[in-house]
Amino acid sequence: MTVPLPRLSEVVFEPPLNPKVQEAIDDSHYVRSVKILLQTKTPFWINKGVDGAVISDLPIRNTYFAPPFEGSAKGIIIASYVWEKDADHFLQMSDDDKITEAVSCLTQIFPEMANEFEHGACSEWRDAFCIFRPGQDKYHHYLRAEVGPNLYLAGEHCSVEHGYFEGALETGLRAAANILRQLDPEFRCKFDELLASGNPQDLGGSGCMKHLRNKMDQALQNQLFASARLCWS
Ligand SMILES: Cc1cc2nc3c(=O)[nH]c(=O)nc-3n(C[C@H](O)[C@H](O)[C@H](O)COP(=O)(O)OP(=O)(O)OC[C@H]3O[C@@H](n4cnc5c(N)ncnc54)[C@H](O)[C@@H]3O)c2cc1C
Repeated sequence: MTVPLPRLSEVVFEPPLNPKVQEAIDDSHYVRSVKILLQTKTPFWINKGVDGAVISDLPIRNTYFAPPFEGSAKGIIIASYVWEKDADHFLQMSDDDKITEAVSCLTQIFPEMANEFEHGACSEWRDAFCIFRPGQDKYHHYLRAEVGPNLYLAGEHCSVEHGYFEGALETGLRAAANILRQLDPEFRCKFDELLASGNPQDLGGSGCMKHLRNKMDQALQNQLFASARLCWS
């Protein structure tokens, strides 16, 4: 199962999951986040030598400038990408107010913004991605094991690299490998042999998959990826 934990928490399992697994599902902390995007008449920042990002102590905090789009003279700015307490400031506002505040903040840094601004759009996430609070690291252990009979979880929340696609892919591969280990004794044998050849310290998190990628022969990789694709689809 790959749905995020807040949704998984609403699923009633029969028979019930191990209480530790259920606690990890119910209690894991998710980050709230807001993005405010602005369209400008031109990518005016390029002529000012600004590239990439501006970090400020204004409420917008983190601003990212998109490279010019082919076939368009317009500029696109992620005027604000904020999380947690910084996001709370915007989460209570209407989209129009968010955009007005973002334009006002950016105008303090770039006065030309007042004339350049054309449109704005906002997105917000109450459960953007999982980041465990202090003391929740043990949940990695519970979420990455076989959580019920023939039941494995995958998704960035099960990863030690929370909030990144890499973590989601790694856990998908891990779940696929665990299923294959159950179904195919030959795969289990080769897979466990490969794991045993790794440095135990490197085998947590995506280190495990890096090790396997480096050592696994093509046939075994194909088998694993075919199974993972079934999980991902
Ligand atoms: C604002 C933001 C910025 C990010 N920036 C980056 C970045 O720059 N780089 C990066 O690597 N990662 C980034 N991420 C994280 C990245 O998007 C996630 O790590 C990745 O998408 C997680 O993949 P996943 O398959 O675990 O979960 P998701 O992609 O969330 O997939 C879960 C799926 O479950 C479905 N689902 C939910 N509830 C149900 C239900 N009840 N029934 C059935 N299906 C359901 C959803 O529709 C969704 O398709 C960002 C995330 C956010 C929110």
